[in-house]
Amino acid sequence: MKKHNFYAGPSILPQYTIENTAAAIKDFAGMGLSLMEISHRSKQFVAVMDEAQALFKELLDIPEGYSVVFLGGGASTQFAMIPYNLMNKKSAYLNTGAWAKKAIKEAKLFGEVDVVATSEETTFNYVPKGYTIPTDADYFHITTNNTIYGTEIRKDIDCPIPLVADMSSDIFSRPVDVSKYAMIYGGAQKNLAPAGVTFIIIKNDILGKVDRAIPTMLNYQTHIDKGSMFNTPPVVPVYAALQTLKWLKDNGGIAAMEKKNIEKARLLYDEIDRNKLFVGTVAEEDRSLMNICFVMKEEYKDLEADFFDFATSKGMVGIKGHRSVGGFRASTYNALPIESVGALVAAMKEFENSH
Ligand SMILES: *Cc1c(COP(=O)(O)O)cnc(C)c1O
Repeated sequence: MKKHNFYAGPSILPQYTIENTAAAIKDFAGMGLSLMEISHRSKQFVAVMDEAQALFKELLDIPEGYSVVFLGGGASTQFAMIPYNLMNKKSAYLNTGAWAKKAIKEAKLFGEVDVVATSEETTFNYVPKGYTIPTDADYFHITTNNTIYGTEIRKDIDCPIPLVADMSSDIFSRPVDVSKYAMIYGGAQKNLAPAGVTFIIIKNDILGKVDRAIPTMLNYQTHIDKGSMFNTPPVVPVYAALQTLKWLKDNGGIAAMEKKNIEKARLLYDEIDRNKLFVGTVAEEDRSLMNICFVMKEEYKDLEADFFDFATSKGMVGIKGHRSVGGFRASTYNALPIESVGALVAAMKEFENSH
C-alpha cells in the first residue's frame, strides 16, 4: 500500500533527493568511491559545498553581506550559540512554543532575557501580537513556525533591533525577505535534508560585538572564514540538501512551493472545519502551512484511537499529535504531494460517514 508520510521531523524528502543521495553513496561523482568515504577536501565535495551555499543564496534571494553556513549540532546547539555570539547584556524573545522556550532557557545562561510575550497560558494556540520590542536588547528572537503546536508567523515582521529567526520547519516553504533578518537558522531535517546538518544565514556585520571570548567551534566567524570547512562538515546531509535545493529550483522555486503549500493546507483545514468529528487547535489567523494540528471534538473524543487506526489502515504515517497537544498533526512539508493530503481528507470523510 502507498504510504502517506506526515511525520513532523525527520520528515518526507523529495524522491529526487533520496535517489540521488543513494546513488552517490554507491558512487560519488564518478570517483568509483562512496560519498561516505571520500575526503571533504576533495575537489568534488568542495564543489558540492560551494553549490549548496550558492543555491541557498539564489533561491532565498539573500542580499550581499550575508553568509550561509552548514554546521552539525542541530538547531538546539544554535539556542546557545546565538546568545554566545550576539548578546552582551540583554536579548528579547517571543515565547510561542516548546522550541522558543528551549531557546530562552539557553539565552538566560548569558544575561538578561526579556520575554516580550507568551501564549503559554493557552497551550501556545496562537501567536502573541501587539508586544513591544525593547530597543536596548542586542537582538529579538522568534520561532517562525511552531512545529509542535501548529502556529506560524508567515509575515516578515518589522523589528527595530537585529531579528533572529528559527525557521527549522518552514524554511523554503514561502518567500522570505532575508534583509529583515540578522540571522535565520534551523535543523535541516524538517524540509530540506536528513538529520545531521544545521543551516545558518547570518549577516556578517552583526558579529564581533560581544565582549566574551568565544570557543573556536562555537564562533560563527570561524565557520564563515572557512566556508563551513573548518572541521569535517556533515558530508552526506549536505549532499542531500543540495539535491533538495536543485529539486526546488527545477520545480519553480519558493514562490511555486508556497502556492502548492497553500493549496495543500487549505484542502486539509477546510475538511477539519467542515467535518462534524474534528476541530482545529489553533487560532485561524495563525494556522501553520507546515504542521496542521487537529483533535476530535469533545463529544467524539473516545473515537480518537479508532480514527488513528483507521487512518493507519489507509496508509497514513506520522499523524499522531505531539504528546503535549494530543490528537493529530499532519505535517505538509514541501515534498508532500497534494494526493497525500487528499488521501487523509478522504479517510476523514469516510470515518465521519460511519460514525
Ligand atoms: C525540530 C525543531 C528544532 C530542533 O532541532 P534539532 O535539529 O533537533 O536540534 C528547533 N526548532 C524548531 C522550530 C524545530 O521544529
